[in-house]
Order: sequence, then structure tokens, then C-alpha cells
Amino acid sequence: MNNYLLFTPGPVNVANSVRLAVAKEDICHREVEFDQLLQSIETKLLKIFELKQADYRAVVITGSGTAANESMLSSVVGDKNILIITNGEFGERLVDISTIHNKNTYRLDFPWGEVFDMDKISDYLKCNNIDVIAMVHHETSSGMLNPIEKIGALAKKHNALFIVDGVSSAGAERIDMEKCHIDFFSSSSSKAIGSYSGLSFILGKVQEFEKLKELPVKTMYLNLYKFYYFIKTLSQTPNTPAVHLFFALEQALINFLDEGVINRYATLKNRAKRLRQGMSNLGLKFLIAEKDMCSVLTTVHIPEHIDVGNFRQKLREKSIIIYEGKGCFKNKVFQVGNIGELSDDDIQYFLSSLSNILASFNMTEKSDIQLTSAAHVSSLVEQLSPTQLSIA
Ligand SMILES: *Cc1c(COP(=O)(O)O)cnc(C)c1O
Repeated sequence: MNNYLLFTPGPVNVANSVRLAVAKEDICHREVEFDQLLQSIETKLLKIFELKQADYRAVVITGSGTAANESMLSSVVGDKNILIITNGEFGERLVDISTIHNKNTYRLDFPWGEVFDMDKISDYLKCNNIDVIAMVHHETSSGMLNPIEKIGALAKKHNALFIVDGVSSAGAERIDMEKCHIDFFSSSSSKAIGSYSGLSFILGKVQEFEKLKELPVKTMYLNLYKFYYFIKTLSQTPNTPAVHLFFALEQALINFLDEGVINRYATLKNRAKRLRQGMSNLGLKFLIAEKDMCSVLTTVHIPEHIDVGNFRQKLREKSIIIYEGKGCFKNKVFQVGNIGELSDDDIQYFLSSLSNILASFNMTEKSDIQLTSAAHVSSLVEQLSPTQLSIA
């Protein structure tokens, strides 16, 4: 049962099978049932990311995506130098976390919503002795998909460890950790993976997990080596896990693999494309170029005469939840996610609700946006047949 359609980049509307999995059974996390559950989750994660267990392992943490990021940043740097490359809110959060744990935290900032300047990054790495590079893959605050392959190549060239916050890209974009030279990659249960919030995971190279043993311990609960050691030796977690969320995550991964990894990515891409075409037909403009977007969400300029809070409330009255912009994007943009259980009808419903709401704003105030009447806008939306909208 759902009251709301979550057009957000997480939390998401979960599949019924995931909802039911939460109430599966009561088990003890120190018994074989949990060992098997964790093994099943790890095996599926490695399968989705096309990794071999001999070379890579996945640990699961009870805690949202930030817990996984804090676990990586507190456990892999030691006393060495870490460079964090940012172009948005989540990149800056990595800096905030790292600053707590690592005295040698350096940053290279690019404006929010702008692509990385590769020459600047390359020059920085030539002139400075950097041991670890960290960045966000999909910068959720703008919707920009950052170039992990290019940065990974630089990390390899400079013999630096490469860690990536993939919280909002995992499950929506194909990520080749090997090719991108990624040593540790974080994500969470509640975005494109499609489960409830509360769990996160880190995929990492076995070789690098092993090396963590030698590093100073900076946190007790999020000590990444400990998570690795526990899964390796016991197939368990160091402390009491949120067992029922593990059931839900397992089910979400089963659904993912049943649909097929490639199919899932294509579905999300088609859905994003449909939404973007529909919004674009309503005269809306996007913050960044479509080629730089991920298939998770779209960041849209709010027409000048519309108050974003008011706008969001009107959508809410239609049971649709969207995001407002944050930081320098506050009151300038809104964000529409397209992950989770959203049907073609839901997308259609969103677009027609959006057109009605935009038209209602237009009737009360003049604007240069090219909308004449609600009927006109609705007819525009109706012209979009699913076949025209799907991509080859
Ligand atoms: C959502 C998100 C996070 C983590 O946020 P939580 O609230 O801790 O789940 C981290 N990085 C990115 C890029 C995100 O989109």
C-alpha cells in the first residue's frame, strides 16, 4: 500500500516482494541463517557489479550511505594524503567526513553542476604527493555523472588508491571497478538498488582490504577492516545488524538479477528519457546537459514566477513527492527522481499533474514560459506515445 509516489533519488517506492521480505522471520545474527543471508547478499552484489570473489569482496553496514562513506574515509587513509575532488554537496560532504578523520585532507573544488576540469586535476596530481583520491560518481545535488574512468586512470598513473562514493549511481549505471581502477566503492540499499533505507555496502579489492589491517584504527563502529575480517572469517558483521533490512536487501537484489542487470539499466534510462522529454515539452529547462546526467534523476530550473515550496506542495497534494535544490541551487531548481517502483502510468500521471500545476501558476501570474492553457499542455503530454519516447 502506497500513499505517495516517490519521484525522489531515494528513498524509493519498493517492490511488494521487498515489503513482504521485511516480515520474513526472526533469526539470530550469530546463527547459520544469518551467515547464509549475508553470503547470499554478497554473492548477488558481486554478480551485479560483475566482480569475482577471489579479487573483490562486499561488506554490508547497518547505516545509511554516509556510514559507508565514513567507513571508507576513516579506514583507508591512515596518515597519508587524501585528495577529494568536488563539484557539489555530496563531494563537499566527503571533505567534511575526511577532515574529521584525516589531518592530511586536501580538496580540489569545481563549481556545483560543472564538469571536472581534467587539466587542473592532472596538474594538481603532478605537483602534489597524493596517496588517495576520492570523489562522488553521481553528484546527486546536480545530477552530474562524474568521470570515474578518467580519474581512475590518473589514480593509477600516480599510484594512488581510488575511492568512489557511488551511493546514487549503483544500480542505475554500469560500473566497471576493474577498468576504472576503483579500490573501494560505496553505495546504499535505498536508492537505485531499490530497497529500504538503513543499509549500505562497500565493494573493495581483497588486496586492499588486507592492507587495512596495518592502518591506525580511527573508529570503532565503522572500522572497515573489521567488517572485512568478520565477513571473511564468519560471514557475519561485527555488531548486531538490522537483520530484517538484510532480508529486504536480499529480495531487492533477487529482483534486480531476475530482471537482468542490463535490462534494469535500460529500463531506468528509458524512464529518465521519457520524463525528460515530457518535461522538456512543457517548456522546462534542465540544470545540466542531458549527456552529463545519470539515469537516476533530473534537475530542473524552476520557472522564475513559481515558488518552489508552493510548487512542491501542489505536487504533494497529488501524492507526488519531489526534491528541492540545496545549497546554491536552493529556490532555483527542483529534482525529479525516476528510480524505484514507478510504472509507465505513474510517469504519465506525474507529467499530466505537472502540466496542470504549471498551468495553474501561469493563470495567476504572467510569465514568459510557453504555456497557454492546461488543455494545451495536457494535449502536449498526450501526444507522447510510449513508442516515441522509448530509446532504441
Ligand atoms: C544519498 C547520498 C549519500 C548518502 O546519504 P544518506 O542519507 O546517508 O543515505 C551519499 N552520497 C551521495 C552521492 C548520495 O546521493
